[in-house]
Amino acid sequence: MISARDALRLLQDGNRRFVADRKRDARVGATRRNELTERQEPFAIVLGCSDSRVPAEIVFDQGLGDLFVIRVAGNIVAPSQIGSVEFAADRFNTRLVVVLGHSGCGAILATIEQLTRPVEKQSRNLHAIVDRVRPSVEPLLATDLPNDSAELVGNAVRANVRASVGHLRHGSEILEQLIERDGLLVVGAEYSLETGVVDFFEGLPSER
Ligand SMILES: [Zn+2]
Repeated sequence: MISARDALRLLQDGNRRFVADRKRDARVGATRRNELTERQEPFAIVLGCSDSRVPAEIVFDQGLGDLFVIRVAGNIVAPSQIGSVEFAADRFNTRLVVVLGHSGCGAILATIEQLTRPVEKQSRNLHAIVDRVRPSVEPLLATDLPNDSAELVGNAVRANVRASVGHLRHGSEILEQLIERDGLLVVGAEYSLETGVVDFFEGLPSER
């Protein structure tokens, strides 16, 4: 079992390789595939956005069997996301969970749009996503931030990641117990579309 701290280091190292354009490719080949037919031991769980520009395995330079990835627009947390995290943490003893948001997230933009210029015929299904992002965006609209749309979106992306981290930490008894007793760590991060850098900004253990 890889500890949360070591798993975090593996992701940070992988992202550095990705940013430097020095990706390794051995872990996606046939040898690796054949090693994994009977079992898997993913060292991290990533709840990320569906955005085509932010595939977790690529931005962290990981291969087959390394990451248990859940992707949904806006990296929101609904019961099926919590269930997926519970499943992986319990079944594979994975000890790190990363909520990965990103700059310029369309789900955040759609939520801001819906709150400032409501569209009447928004699909009920899309609405279900916007509704989960809304509590992170609404308080920001009451500040001076709306005058600066880049700042508003940046702050909303991070608020939404923090909210998802909170839902995972407190929305499940199984996860709460794993956090308390077994070293499960839930952190939040933001990927920059411009630089490729993943900034882990929420819930990092203090360096010792
Ligand atoms: Zn997105």
